[in-house]
Amino acid sequence: MRIVVPAGGIGGARFLRGLKAALGTGSPTTGEHSTDSAITVIGNTGDDITLFGLRICPDLDTVMYTLGGGIDEERGWGRADESFTVKEELAAYGMRPTWFGLGDRDTATHIVRAQMLATGYPLSAVTEALCDRWKPGVRLIPMTDDQVETHVVVDEGEGPRALHFQEWWIRHRAALPAQQIVSVGAESSAPAPGVLKAIAEADAVILPPSNPVVSVGSVLGVPGIRDAMAAKTVVGVSPIIGGAPVRGMADACLAALGVETDAGAVAEHLGADLLDGWLVDEADAGTRAAGIEVRSRPLYMNGPAATEALARAAVDLAVELSEAKG
Ligand code: GDP
Ligand code: CA
Repeated sequence: MRIVVPAGGIGGARFLRGLKAALGTGSPTTGEHSTDSAITVIGNTGDDITLFGLRICPDLDTVMYTLGGGIDEERGWGRADESFTVKEELAAYGMRPTWFGLGDRDTATHIVRAQMLATGYPLSAVTEALCDRWKPGVRLIPMTDDQVETHVVVDEGEGPRALHFQEWWIRHRAALPAQQIVSVGAESSAPAPGVLKAIAEADAVILPPSNPVVSVGSVLGVPGIRDAMAAKTVVGVSPIIGGAPVRGMADACLAALGVETDAGAVAEHLGADLLDGWLVDEADAGTRAAGIEVRSRPLYMNGPAATEALARAAVDLAVELSEAKG
């Protein structure tokens, strides 16, 4: 079975681990050749930012490290056994910003990426090269090779100003109320090579419990991707349980769009033209979303068994709904 997953960082990567287990594709240690994989991940690059002359792709790296066995499990981002000497040295030079954590091991990944980008390779080729080392057992493609960056419009009393998503999210912990979330560059961007083909050849699209606005929303905002996905059977896993994001601050992003932090409201925001099925947690049993088949299952990804069961439920619902479609 071929499945396409548009994914953000931590939530997306953890779900993908369960999906790999559910589909029985390559183990994280042995991996398999990326193009033979049953799973194609379309990674969000809206969080990407250039700092210290390095192009930083937090969601691509989180997926690559998590599935490739290099992630710091506790933090959920960056490398295991990490040290931060380079960060301290940069701060000693007065380099800004100081709020972004780039570890020493992680810096090597970024030097490889910077060098390849400077030589003219597109981000999709760079990502493939980095994955040659990590063997994530999925094909990981950035949503676009073009520069698309999520910016957040805030107003602290001196009129509206836009800041990069990372500054809002990490430095301000999403505490400045967002008036607007803008995907800068999205309209003129194109899907990266292989994205539309992977969707066209997929048996189903599964939306993981990633941030529905800045992760899944950014991927869907690249012209052509949403329409291609809508032509498929699409099942989503709610990132909202009992009216709250399980971790992180997705509620602050939903508020900017005027969407309630509620499993049903998020499904309707994603739209019945896109979603065929939607999994909500048992705490949200009884949730309805117009034109979307809603089922309740345990949705907490607390441990490999629970995550695999959740992924299997998403696959099962996709199979059921595509058979019903004929
Ligand atoms: P990010 O880059 O760290 O924001 O990671 P993602 O973009 O993948 O989004 C994480 C989202 O997943 C958060 O908004 C949470 O609402 C959601 N989430 C985190 N853990 C769980 C979980 O165990 N179950 C479910 N259903 N959602 C989760
Ligand atoms: Ca992210």
